[in-house]
Amino acid sequence: MRFKIDHDLHIHSKLSFCSNNPEQTAENILKYAEERNFSTICFTDHMWDTARIPTKDDFYENQCFEYICQSLPLPQSDKVKFLFGCETDFNKDFVLGIAKETMEKVDFIIVPLNHFHMGGFTCRGGESSEELAELVIKRFDALLDMDLPFEKMGIAHFSDACVESRYYRALALIPDSEYRRIFSRAAEKGIGIELNMEVEHMTGEYKDAILAPYFFAKEVGCKFYLGSDIHSPRRIGQVMDRFNMAVDLLGLTEDDKFIIGK
Ligand SMILES: [Zn+2]
Ligand SMILES: [Zn+2]
Repeated sequence: MRFKIDHDLHIHSKLSFCSNNPEQTAENILKYAEERNFSTICFTDHMWDTARIPTKDDFYENQCFEYICQSLPLPQSDKVKFLFGCETDFNKDFVLGIAKETMEKVDFIIVPLNHFHMGGFTCRGGESSEELAELVIKRFDALLDMDLPFEKMGIAHFSDACVESRYYRALALIPDSEYRRIFSRAAEKGIGIELNMEVEHMTGEYKDAILAPYFFAKEVGCKFYLGSDIHSPRRIGQVMDRFNMAVDLLGLTEDDKFIIGK
């Protein structure tokens, strides 16, 4: 059975500093989900657990756990389960921005390994494609080495990039054997792999590099979930096209689906 497009597990609310759109409310997102017959959605605002893991980073210092909790309680409906999650981060010293006790208070935790636009925080800044290719795999290994509740965690937008072509070229430099190795580890740990690609990225110049990691992930048994990463209602119109294209290109079935907690 074809992978059902019945969820969106990466959504920002108006609380995320990079959203800052008053229309991005829980009520509007619930409506978005109902109109598309989704059964599960999740708020994943940017979050660094500042009270327990101090940071001086400008972007994260005030986007702490207590701050994103302002979304609670989330509205629910008969058809849609609205989960409370977060998009935390992994800094250049391989520190994850969420404490153990906080993990117990969220339904889902997504971790971006490639927020490489945040030079000085997640990386040195200005790395070459060769360096990024090594760094993203090193960060992936470091995360998988940790003792974490992987059954309720996902790797956010592995092949999407705020550093554009520099990162896409990096993806093309990662050897097939490395992709197989790292995603085999991910499959073994049970962490979900997010599908988050834009239509223009799945059809453009770098499409092979952008899609390759997911083909390897599928081959070695990883499970996938869909995440739109929408920060404002402006991009809602493209979501179903993006999700359908990703599912079709990868030929996903319901067996390939990541279920939180399973
Ligand atoms: Zn992100
Ligand atoms: Zn995001």
